[in-house]
Amino acid sequence: SQAKKQQLEDDHTLMEQVARYFQHQLRSHPNSQKAISYLKGRGLSGDVVKQWEVGYAPSEWDGVLSTFGTTNDRIRQLIDLKLVNQNDSGKQYDFFRDRIMFPIRDRRGRVVGFGGRVLENDSGPKYLNSPETRIFHKGQELYGYYQVRQNNRHLDKIMVVEGYMDVVALSQFDINIATAALGTATTPDHLNLLMRSTNHIVCCYDGDNAGRQAAWRALENALPALKDGVKLTFMFLPDGEDPDTMVRKVGADSLLSMLNDDALPLSRFFFETLLKEHEVGTPEGKLALKAAAQPLIDTVLGDNQRAMLAEELAKHTGEYDRFRLQQDIAQANQK
Ligand code: ATP
Ligand code: MN
Ligand code: MN
Ligand code: MN
Repeated sequence: SQAKKQQLEDDHTLMEQVARYFQHQLRSHPNSQKAISYLKGRGLSGDVVKQWEVGYAPSEWDGVLSTFGTTNDRIRQLIDLKLVNQNDSGKQYDFFRDRIMFPIRDRRGRVVGFGGRVLENDSGPKYLNSPETRIFHKGQELYGYYQVRQNNRHLDKIMVVEGYMDVVALSQFDINIATAALGTATTPDHLNLLMRSTNHIVCCYDGDNAGRQAAWRALENALPALKDGVKLTFMFLPDGEDPDTMVRKVGADSLLSMLNDDALPLSRFFFETLLKEHEVGTPEGKLALKAAAQPLIDTVLGDNQRAMLAEELAKHTGEYDRFRLQQDIAQANQK
């Protein structure tokens, strides 16, 4: 409806203004020096900070509230967009305080949410993301996707990384192909979005346990959306590294060649992971592998991708000859 369309437009306008406000605070707030030092300490240049519209949410309880909450309707809107919290006794206060702010743009370039990082690692959750709102759906948005597409509508490959800092740091090193899922697992919607712009998606995760687990969750979620002709690979960085630290250590060229040479094809990562859990030296082990793998393989969207994994599974379970025979019979019947 017209009213709804108007509200949506108002929401996006307000989010844009708040993003500008955070950017402005980074230059002018009395505490901004510590925010600027933090960013410098992370090795970010002034240019890249400007390019990514990085800002600072002031430490006050009512920075956004008093600046934008000029009418009751406005305050309601700030609460709806989760820029302002209201507690049980009705007290209102800013959601983001004393944090480095990353505006999140949707694929059409509209600000739909924020990610905020603390300046000191021991003061509360490291990252705070905007909760879901009527304009922000985490499972559908990828940080950096809009900017990646600004440079190029179709890309040879797109990287999926874990964090805001990874996207920003990579771009400082002229790697402008990185997007980040927003503290959630990569969803089928994410994959569909990415597949509009590329045939090769490289998931590049941190070299820690959390990274491995995130990669497996991404794989499970990706399979039902995975089309034939799309290459999905998985890159694991050395323990303790993430794309941000890695690119600073080895440089852009090395990181890019690692992406080409060391990323595991989907099938490799899939079976390596499952074979770690299921010892196929025994018939029972083979059965267990099949029980774990088959349901996942069945979810794969692309016929060729699904057949490729099924064939690979058959090799591991020793059913390969039977598998081939069945394929031959099926093919003969089709003729
Ligand atoms: P930094 O380099 O700034 O320390 P990071 O991106 O390397 O941050 P990780 O601990 O590797 O941080 O986490 C990866 C991503 O997971 C973050 O960028 C963020 O999106 C999300 N995340 C991490 N910690 C939290 C948290 N406490 N709450 C919500 N999301 C989080
Ligand atoms: Mn990590
Ligand atoms: Mn990091
Ligand atoms: Mn990290």
